[in-house]
Amino acid sequence: MKHISIGKLHIVYTEKSDGNMRDTENRKKVLHAFGFESVYLPKQKHTNNILPVEEHNKKDADGLYTDKKNTPIGVLTADCMPVILTDSKTIVVIHAGWKGLFEGILEKGVDLFKNKNNVFCFIGPSAKDCCYYVKEDFLENTKKYGIKLNKRYLKRDKEGFRFSLQEVAKDKLKNKGVNHIVDFSKCTICSEDFFSYRNGDFNERILTFAWLTEV
Ligand SMILES: [Zn+2]
Repeated sequence: MKHISIGKLHIVYTEKSDGNMRDTENRKKVLHAFGFESVYLPKQKHTNNILPVEEHNKKDADGLYTDKKNTPIGVLTADCMPVILTDSKTIVVIHAGWKGLFEGILEKGVDLFKNKNNVFCFIGPSAKDCCYYVKEDFLENTKKYGIKLNKRYLKRDKEGFRFSLQEVAKDKLKNKGVNHIVDFSKCTICSEDFFSYRNGDFNERILTFAWLTEV
């Protein structure tokens, strides 16, 4: 696992060596290392819903937020993007695959903040455009959702089309006034360190979670 701390913000993402994070016992081991018993997770279904942490069980959602300190919230992923938004008072953790991304889950996350200029965004380990090949029907979806393709979003080689979820995410965030974006994502498909749905890890997941401290 890797732990990143910047001021009051703490972010942890797990690696293959930490085990499958769908397993409660594996999760506990990681959480104990930071003094936590549990992590709030949404009932992920590729929606664009974001709920307050108190309602994490109420309905399907792909993001949670809280302004409580020392309250870890997280998402489970294998190729989709874990995205963290914070202004140091409120923290939002989002699971963004292409569908949630196209359906505006990041914009919904940004809308939880009054002053967008103070918002920092972090993008965690996810499928990158070195490996994320997409088919014709995917390109149809970009049209359907009004994503205008350009050379940063879509690259072509002998094998087909490679797509960048991260570049779309960055533009969506910038359009909402978020200018501090840290993309520390390593590619989950070609890095050995992560589970990857595209590589056949259909049931295994990494966990990305984050929390704010008082000082
Ligand atoms: Zn790659």
